[in-house]
Amino acid sequence: MKFESRFVDSLPGDPSTDPRPHLVSKAMYSRVSPTPVRNPSLVSYSAPLARELGIETEWIESTEGVHVLAGNKLAEGMKPYAMCYGGHQFGNWAGQLGDGRAINLGEWMDPRGNSWTWQLKGSGPTPYSRFADGRAVLRSSLREYLCSEAMHALGVPTTRALSLVATGEDVLRDMFYDGNAKHEPGAIVCRVAPSFIRFGNFEIFAARQDFENLQKLADFTIANHFPELGSPSLETYEAWFREVCRRTADMVCEWMRVGFVHGVMNTDNMSILGLTIDYGPYGWIDSFDADWTPNTTDFEMHRYAFGNQPQIAQWNLVQLANALYPLFDQTEPLQRGLDTFVSELASKYLEMQSAKLGLPDVLSPDAKGLVEALEKCWRLTEIDMTIFYRLLSHVPAEWFTGSDITEDAVITAFCDVVGDAFYEPIKPNAPGLKSLWDWVMGYRKVVRAGTFDFIDRAKKMNRVNPKYVLRNFLAQEAIESAERGDVGPLHELMDLLMAPYDEQPNREAKYFAKRPEWARHKPGCSTLSCSS
Ligand code: AMP
Ligand code: MG
Repeated sequence: MKFESRFVDSLPGDPSTDPRPHLVSKAMYSRVSPTPVRNPSLVSYSAPLARELGIETEWIESTEGVHVLAGNKLAEGMKPYAMCYGGHQFGNWAGQLGDGRAINLGEWMDPRGNSWTWQLKGSGPTPYSRFADGRAVLRSSLREYLCSEAMHALGVPTTRALSLVATGEDVLRDMFYDGNAKHEPGAIVCRVAPSFIRFGNFEIFAARQDFENLQKLADFTIANHFPELGSPSLETYEAWFREVCRRTADMVCEWMRVGFVHGVMNTDNMSILGLTIDYGPYGWIDSFDADWTPNTTDFEMHRYAFGNQPQIAQWNLVQLANALYPLFDQTEPLQRGLDTFVSELASKYLEMQSAKLGLPDVLSPDAKGLVEALEKCWRLTEIDMTIFYRLLSHVPAEWFTGSDITEDAVITAFCDVVGDAFYEPIKPNAPGLKSLWDWVMGYRKVVRAGTFDFIDRAKKMNRVNPKYVLRNFLAQEAIESAERGDVGPLHELMDLLMAPYDEQPNREAKYFAKRPEWARHKPGCSTLSCSS
């Protein structure tokens, strides 16, 4: 196995070799090695990712493989380093952050010629660890590992996770910052992505007025990750920023499609490649609630709530635009990029919602209104997002095509099919749900106006409406079992989520189910902290 290191070989590093926390200026990274762990053991690995990378699973399972994936050993060509970046956290500039517990190992070329950086998260202190230990606990590592691969299987742009390794060492964490620290099992995830460069990598140079390195990093990013845009010039920079805006719009629209809430959309957690990155206190929408955030640190502001994500992505792009301004010396090209975000998001969002609803390809004004009207209906009662959309494709063709059906019969038929999505049993025509019944009638009218092969329509809907997502309580159950030493539920969940759009009828009863009542307020299921 041979790794490369374009990032380290072509960009300036920290001249100081002091491993203790320090400010790192005029440099993009600090060379630092993972700290070996006592007793590493492989908990799980992603066979689909190993296949894509062209890595033998025998190697992953071997003593040598586990030692590399635990940070105890380096493979040939690896030049480990931690990246220097800053960021806006919860709306405020936070200065230098950097990889405090992540260490990039090197770049791996897959059989198709694509380069992938491998990164260990939880592999010990770096010059960016500030007051923390550089480690990660099993519960948060398992969540990152599972969710990365689940998101990929859903078709959402994301960093990947190759392996989850238990370190055999304990880590001390105060999960809810309430003075109740306890020892928890430690773990390391090997994350894999074409690059881990974030908005914050550019922001730190702009904040320090180090325009030379700002430009170097931009040129490196374009040359290695956007080569189709050409050599550096004002036009290339503009095309690049526009592409970042486009990809970010795409990513956030995909989150809205599947009901994913990132939870900490700080600019240091925004990938320049438009990938979902840094799975921390994330969550999945059970009953639809645009104002829901899983992150306890955000309970006052709800800044990173589900429905705010598009707007926050835009705010983050404005911060990136500010940071990149010195490359342009004018605002217009950057403004054009931001405008692209707005227009791209609006059209993608409408396209995505109408695909979820199985609307005709050409949208009438009535059809556009349906999307907004539905979002208002979600507030009337608790409706499970995943189950609702999935069941919608089961509504029979006759429901749309019949001409002599009464309104009552239409609504009753609708309730028969999607009723399971409601947390409280619904009575057809219940007065409190008037707007929903209006919506149902409007929906029927719009779908009737299109020409459909209804079997084909259902198939298409089932390709954008997943049947299975990583519900918060499912992840928590897998964690509690893994902490007791039983990794069966983790593997079962991983297997399920590799085919989220498939029916998998034998798993339906357990996994195509609403959040159980016990999970409504349980830590880990509905509330998560950044302590990980
Ligand atoms: P996050 O909120 O996870 O994106 O982390 C924000 C910053 O805190 C990043 O610079 C992380 O590297 C750093 N950080 C988080 N947890 C730890 C830890 N246990 N040890 C060192 N640094 C950490
Ligand atoms: Mg982060």
